[in-house]
Amino acid sequence: MVTNLNCIYTAKYLVSGSAPPIEDGALHVHAGRIAAIGTRKELLNDQPSVKVVDFSDALIVPLLVNAHTHLELTDYSYWESNVMEEESSPKNFVDWILRLIRIKKNLDEEQYRLSLLNGIAQSIAAGTGAVGDILSQQGLRNLYQNCPLSGSLFLETLGQDPALVHRLKDGLTEALQDETTGLLNLGISPHSPYTLSKDYLQDIYSYCQKQNIRCTTHIAESPDEIEFLEQSQGDLVNRLYPYIGWEKYVPQPSRMRPVEYLQQQGGLFPGNLLVHGVQLSAAEIEILVATKMSLALCPRSNASLDVGKAPAGQLHRAGVKLALGTDSLASCDSLSIWDEMAFAHRWFEGELDAPTLFNMATQGGAEALGIEKDLGSLQVGKIAGFQILRPKTTVAVNQIFDYFVSSICTDDIVQVYHHGQSQFHS
Ligand SMILES: [Zn+2]
Repeated sequence: MVTNLNCIYTAKYLVSGSAPPIEDGALHVHAGRIAAIGTRKELLNDQPSVKVVDFSDALIVPLLVNAHTHLELTDYSYWESNVMEEESSPKNFVDWILRLIRIKKNLDEEQYRLSLLNGIAQSIAAGTGAVGDILSQQGLRNLYQNCPLSGSLFLETLGQDPALVHRLKDGLTEALQDETTGLLNLGISPHSPYTLSKDYLQDIYSYCQKQNIRCTTHIAESPDEIEFLEQSQGDLVNRLYPYIGWEKYVPQPSRMRPVEYLQQQGGLFPGNLLVHGVQLSAAEIEILVATKMSLALCPRSNASLDVGKAPAGQLHRAGVKLALGTDSLASCDSLSIWDEMAFAHRWFEGELDAPTLFNMATQGGAEALGIEKDLGSLQVGKIAGFQILRPKTTVAVNQIFDYFVSSICTDDIVQVYHHGQSQFHS
């Protein structure tokens, strides 16, 4: 890691994320923050004595935001190949959950530790500056201590038994006193409407609102979830609940859609980042707009688990605040948000154009995690979090956003800077 406390970085293009790309762009970084942005000529005229690092034909771009992931599961495919040699791939969403539970049962803390460290390293290498990371192994939260990533670390919770959830809540309350998570804010992830009792879900949302703690919830992900909430039927009732001994906790049919259900439990407040939203109806989208909710889409995960396609165009046109997440490597093949943008561009078939996807991966993600004052774009006063992309072929100024969704950007990253400090050896 090299520290340049006061330095001007120049390149063929500077893409700030808050204004059109600047040709022959320059970024002045001072003490880890952005001091100025402009053309090379402007900045060198203003600060002739400051050290200059020139990246010539490259692009200077903000670090990206992975608004939803589970970095502790980064080694999933390795674990899966060890545990499940003879078995075929999961056929559906509930098959996948059951397999995940079985694999997790066989793991010890050291395996999770290595996997989480691997996930942090892969995220940094992919040009990610902030994450909304879900952690079920709460004792590992101190692994973020010396990590340059920002964002939120959401401690996962789920449960039905009133006595057990009481103890879980006490554990969370104690963990939230902790200050060992590096640069990440600690929050809570009540997993989903089908894995927490109504009372526990209400309790968590009420606690988060009172204490001003951020949280995040998987919502409207699969048709199974809809069937569970509306009718108390389907594979979640018939297969998941018996598998984990929850038969006696199957609720009465709520006859509600997921967003209505969440609203009834007090879960619609801007500090609760919703994730997936694949099954949302037009009426539910209107409620999300009215309640100013952010939603992280995870298209590669949704495609891999075959749960459907989020109504991305409708969400965007309605004005829902959107972000992007990779989800975990249990349902996705990389932790790169560049890869997610490229897939989303194809998968949503033009419903989200390239500049919109870039916005979701930067400012949208930063807003979803409540860190927009510091990250999400290159603007004076913000943290100097940026990456250098060096395309292998010429990119004209009007091709920059097409290049961003071309699925080659991850490989073109030559350097990343967190707080003005380079992370790769050059
Ligand atoms: Zn997830």
